[in-house]
Amino acid sequence: MSVSEEDLVFLERAVALAREAAAAGDGAFGSVLVDASRVERFADRNREVTLGDETRHPEFEIARWAATNLTTAERAGATVYTSAEHCPMCSAAHAWVGLGRIVYAASAAQVSAWRAEVGLAPSPVAVLPITIVAPGLVVDGPVDRYAGELRSLILGAPMES
Ligand SMILES: [Zn+2]
Repeated sequence: MSVSEEDLVFLERAVALAREAAAAGDGAFGSVLVDASRVERFADRNREVTLGDETRHPEFEIARWAATNLTTAERAGATVYTSAEHCPMCSAAHAWVGLGRIVYAASAAQVSAWRAEVGLAPSPVAVLPITIVAPGLVVDGPVDRYAGELRSLILGAPMES
């Protein structure tokens, strides 16, 4: 599947949540859950700094919310839009609760490379594509138009124009 104009509307919303997270001092990541009727049902942003819990990733919150609030069929028909590709923890949670397609703006490999470029410590968790952790998932990304802004937000650097 390719990324449609409608997908970009929801992806933009995920990137806006990443901006919000960065402004709050959290990791610059945001995610949105959209149901099969193309209605946003839940959204969150990274809260690992403000909550002092490194597992407070928005994709993980989405999986938990979906498990509590959506039927199995609703989960399967839902799409998760996320500013950066799920980490292995979130890929596993997404797959365990049976959520559907994922569309991401930046890949995990891109984020890892950006961090390495400026000498930041690597993630304590292996950088693995979603489809390695959860081979059955339908995944689209990266979407290059967001790379410059996300790089700046994730590195806490001023925007490069
Ligand atoms: Zn994660």
